[in-house]
Amino acid sequence: MASSSSSGAFRNGGSSAQRPLKPLTASNLKSTSFKSRAHSSHAPPPFRRSYPSTFSAAAVDGVPGRVRVAVRLRPRNAEELAADADFDDCVELKPELKRLKLRKNNWDADTYEFDDVLTEFASQKRVYEVVAKPVVESVLDGYNGTVMAYGQTGTGKTFTLGHLGDDDTASRGIMVRAMEDVLADISPETDSVSVSYLQLYMEAVQDLLVPANDNISIVEDPKTGDVSLPGATVVQIRDQQSILELLRLGEAHRIAANTKLNTESSRSHAILMVHVKKSFSGREDALSSETDNASPLVKPSKLIVRKSKLVLVDLAGSERVHKSGSEGHMLEEAKSINLSLSALGKCINALAENSPHVPIRDSKLTRLLKDSFGGTARTSLIVTIGPSPRHRGETSSTILFGQRAMKVENMLKIKEEFDYKSLSRKLEIQVDKLIAENERQQKAFDSEVERLNQEAQNRIAEVERNFAEALEKERLKCQMEYMESVKELEEKLVGNQLGHDRDGFINGNCNGEELGSVSEEVSELRKLLQNETQLRKAAEDELNKLKSQFEQFMQPGAGGDTEIIRLHKILEDEAYKKKSLEEEVAILQSQLLQLTFEAGQSNKSLERSGSANGFNGVDSRMSQVGHLQFKETLKGQKAPTAPLYEHVGLQKILSLLESEDANVRIHAVKVVANLAAEEANQEKIVESGGLASLLMLLRSFEDETIRRVAAGAIANLAMNEANQELIMVQGGISLLSITASDAEDPQTLRMVAGAIANLCGNDKLQMKLRSEGGIRALLGMERCGHPDVLSQVARGIANFAKCESRSSTQGLKSGRSLLIEDGALPWIVQNANNEAAPIRRHIELALCHLAQQGKCHFLFSVRKTPFDLLLEMLNLYLRSKCKRNDQWRCTLGASSYLTRLFSRGHKNPCSSDFEFKFHLQV
Ligand code: ADP
Ligand code: MG
Repeated sequence: MASSSSSGAFRNGGSSAQRPLKPLTASNLKSTSFKSRAHSSHAPPPFRRSYPSTFSAAAVDGVPGRVRVAVRLRPRNAEELAADADFDDCVELKPELKRLKLRKNNWDADTYEFDDVLTEFASQKRVYEVVAKPVVESVLDGYNGTVMAYGQTGTGKTFTLGHLGDDDTASRGIMVRAMEDVLADISPETDSVSVSYLQLYMEAVQDLLVPANDNISIVEDPKTGDVSLPGATVVQIRDQQSILELLRLGEAHRIAANTKLNTESSRSHAILMVHVKKSFSGREDALSSETDNASPLVKPSKLIVRKSKLVLVDLAGSERVHKSGSEGHMLEEAKSINLSLSALGKCINALAENSPHVPIRDSKLTRLLKDSFGGTARTSLIVTIGPSPRHRGETSSTILFGQRAMKVENMLKIKEEFDYKSLSRKLEIQVDKLIAENERQQKAFDSEVERLNQEAQNRIAEVERNFAEALEKERLKCQMEYMESVKELEEKLVGNQLGHDRDGFINGNCNGEELGSVSEEVSELRKLLQNETQLRKAAEDELNKLKSQFEQFMQPGAGGDTEIIRLHKILEDEAYKKKSLEEEVAILQSQLLQLTFEAGQSNKSLERSGSANGFNGVDSRMSQVGHLQFKETLKGQKAPTAPLYEHVGLQKILSLLESEDANVRIHAVKVVANLAAEEANQEKIVESGGLASLLMLLRSFEDETIRRVAAGAIANLAMNEANQELIMVQGGISLLSITASDAEDPQTLRMVAGAIANLCGNDKLQMKLRSEGGIRALLGMERCGHPDVLSQVARGIANFAKCESRSSTQGLKSGRSLLIEDGALPWIVQNANNEAAPIRRHIELALCHLAQQGKCHFLFSVRKTPFDLLLEMLNLYLRSKCKRNDQWRCTLGASSYLTRLFSRGHKNPCSSDFEFKFHLQV
């Protein structure tokens, strides 16, 4: 039977060692050693403690786990010691190499390798640790496990597995030791261990704990294929003592049954089934973190249950497989034992050879061990042999059985399930708790909200109350202030009115009423202007629209001629309308300008009405310095030019001077004249071409007012020396001369005379002024007879005489006086006796300047004027009218000089001994 060819194991070729040892199979290499894992019971296996999750690879896919096989040699018993004294053992063990040599004869032996080789000296403890402990630990980890002893009767199967060790605890077998380890590992609160003890005899399963229960059926779960024995008694084990009692009871029942059946215990298979149920908290890390966050109340624990099964099988003696009994009962028995064992052998062969069919269903034993071989259990097989060479054959077949079993590969899987029921129960409790807690919180929240709401309402009411009070206070305060200011204003008004009534007679032209009406007019005109501007805008829009329409029509192919003509007409109409509107706008603008200006004036005079006693008018002092204020509008006040400038813009005002509308021109020229009255504006006006425009207006004869005002403006500009030259360059002298000759209005003449008088004061313009008829024109204005005009004429003569006298003393000029040549002397004589003091003073000045020139003899060269008459007039005038000492002295000097001249027969009027002191100190 021990055929190396059929066993597939290698055997030693004896001493000759014909064949080398076969290398270990892959499955051998893959598997772990039989040795117990390196952890103590105090430090449980990391696999169990760290706990692979329910969904781990081990649980789902399983881990490969080959059936482990160890061989154990029983020591020689008394009989063998006696009978085989002369013979060697049939086996030779090499535990260090895990090899066993089976002698064929004296010179030949087969060598076999096992996962472990246990000699006759191996202790029960060591056997347990090598063979069973790894399986027990796997069971505690949640795997199924099987430990099975196989061998000839009397080789120590029961000793190895089921020995209770009552006398000597060191001889305790695997069953006792395994239960010790299991009980030590589980926690009594959550885990449980239960045991069934069965015997399989002649294909019947008997309950060793309740012997009456002698034909227990094997049930297979159709889904999982798990095998169970629902009829078997299951006893919960809580301590070591109870397992010992249970084993003892089972052993007793086994012996009794066998006695009754007249069998030996070695003819039946004894099976101890240990059910281990352990709970785990599952994925502790994940779950705890989740639940921590969720609520401290939710702490599911031990949600996963692992139900594993440890099967310890003490097989019937294997010799029965080979030896068929000769007697009746024995034969049947042998058949039955044979059936189960040979079925096991066949299954193992099939599994070892990876045969597609494994005859599991052939026997009850193979059905019960379905998970142990080719299933999901970790399986350990111990084959027991005796040393006697007489049983060499049995030993050999046992060894071969073991060798074949080593090739069986199992796929270990954790037997665990999720404990949904307990989880559901726990969660229900937690949900109830949470609901209660939530209700409590909701209640608290509601009352808090209610409280806050009430508080907020109270606060709002308080704030509203405070606000209303503050508002009322503020209102009363404002009312009081308002009343006070009204009162104050009324008082002021009364005061102002009194002042007005007093000053009104002096001013005569400005009062509140007038200002009010002016303001109203201004605002009315503004409105009108806005309207007109809008109208113009609309008209422009319309025009543009029509233009574009027209252009469209003008495009080739569009519209007829009549349509074009019609549109032309509309266009012209619109253009005309636009023009007239623009003109209107211009008029309104100029009116607005004037009114704005006048309003400004009125305001100023109102402001001053309290303090100023009216204006001084164009008094003598003003005419003396030659500053002609424009009476027409100014009434002796300075114009508020700056705002006007800013408001309208000088350029705009000047452009209005050329307006086609006479009204516009009148208003514009008035404004310009007023602006020109201020020295600060003069340069700007001239720069902007204002002078040319004013001169142009002077030429127009249509409107006396325009000429008057323009002349006034020019007179003002002519105060400035630089402007004087410009006036001359632009032909101003001849224009003024013409105006002087043809104007009738005394005010116009006054302005023209003022302008020429100013020009007369310029040294550089003397010749030009005279050549362009300026002096004659000045003298010609005498015809008007108005004292204001005569005063300006006299001032001009005085100015001219002053310039002549200056150039004469500087030696720049000699010869005859241009003034006298142009006939000033008769004018002087004629007006020397004028009633108006300014005229007389200017004439005196002129005379003095002439006298200073040493040109008084020209007085006598005037042939047409009788000297005596002149002298008489002069003396008369001087004596009667002159009030001041210096003037008196002057005139006295002049008269004595004249007397002296005459006494000398006026032959040499320019003699050097002429002495004439003129003491004018004004
Ligand atoms: P089996 O169950 O295989 O028929 P047993 O366990 O009944 O064999 O053993 C037969 C006898 O041999 C028993 O008396 C047992 O005590 C003894 N025996 C077996 N193995 C050993 C051993 N390793 N050391 C000492 N005695 C043993
Ligand atoms: Mg036995």
